[in-house]
Amino acid sequence: NHLKKYFPIKAGLLNRTVGHVRAVDDISIAIQPGETFGLVGESGSGKSTVGKSIVRLTEKTAGDIIFKGQDLYTLSPQEMRKIRPQLQLIFQDPYGSLNPRVRVGDAIGEALIDHGLVPAGEVRERVEEVLASCGLSSYHIDRFPHEFSGGQRQRIGIARALVLNPDLIIADEPVSALDVSIQAQIINLFRHLQETRGLTYLFISHDLSVVEHLCTRIGVMYLGTMMETAPRDELFKNPLHPYTKALLSAVPIPIPKLKRDRIVLKGDIPSPANPPSGCKFHTRCPFAVERCKSEVPEFRHMGSEHYVACHLV
Ligand code: SF4
Ligand code: MG
Repeated sequence: NHLKKYFPIKAGLLNRTVGHVRAVDDISIAIQPGETFGLVGESGSGKSTVGKSIVRLTEKTAGDIIFKGQDLYTLSPQEMRKIRPQLQLIFQDPYGSLNPRVRVGDAIGEALIDHGLVPAGEVRERVEEVLASCGLSSYHIDRFPHEFSGGQRQRIGIARALVLNPDLIIADEPVSALDVSIQAQIINLFRHLQETRGLTYLFISHDLSVVEHLCTRIGVMYLGTMMETAPRDELFKNPLHPYTKALLSAVPIPIPKLKRDRIVLKGDIPSPANPPSGCKFHTRCPFAVERCKSEVPEFRHMGSEHYVACHLV
């Protein structure tokens, strides 16, 4: 609810705060149990910061994070530690988060031991079980991460998150580093795991064609602000925000009657340290009018869970 995360910009000998990067600037999302919410936007839009703020890998500046009715930021470190296994983060590059000197089985099992979730004698069994559900086998247990391909390493990363039996998985660009053919396999794995384990996902991606196959609802972020949220089919068939339209126009569509004119955005995404006034998208919006420069558009309900922030809609 109204999540904000501002990073201070320090300068000078005295290291004074001279400004803020408004990475996340008042975002509200409600994710229902069992659904997959896709968070989409260009790099620098604040998507990852939303994910990290939820699990307190970075501390929010303002707003509330409510998980199963509990405000996570009111919890003591001990209480947070207890709840932590239920919220797992999966990153783009599992290799970066896997210690190269730790065997795969130990990397997956150590979290179980850390959280005291199962007795040491049962760790191997649990690790084998979770590897199997991720399409791996006991063959992988005693080997090191570098012995595996990107797709297999991402399976290992997923297994490591899954072994704690989480309810919510925040997956931050989990397939972006993989070949397209492997991407589909990993997305299918995400879907299969959701069906068999009742998982809830916050799925972060810069690529709409990736979230299309997995998400129930999609939110489009730009410069720390939510521009549009809608159920998946609604967003793809009836995008309302010019930024969403531009992103969608770059996605190849196999259905000719849905063919869209390509909208090419001018320029780069502005700095979140100094975002444009009014509608943050106005410097790149092909439809901008005078009031867009000064008036911040409200995030308005357009019916059937469709929300959009644009003066022209
Ligand atoms: Fe474009 Fe104006 Fe709508 Fe912003 S409010 S998206 S600048 S038309
Ligand atoms: Mg990111």
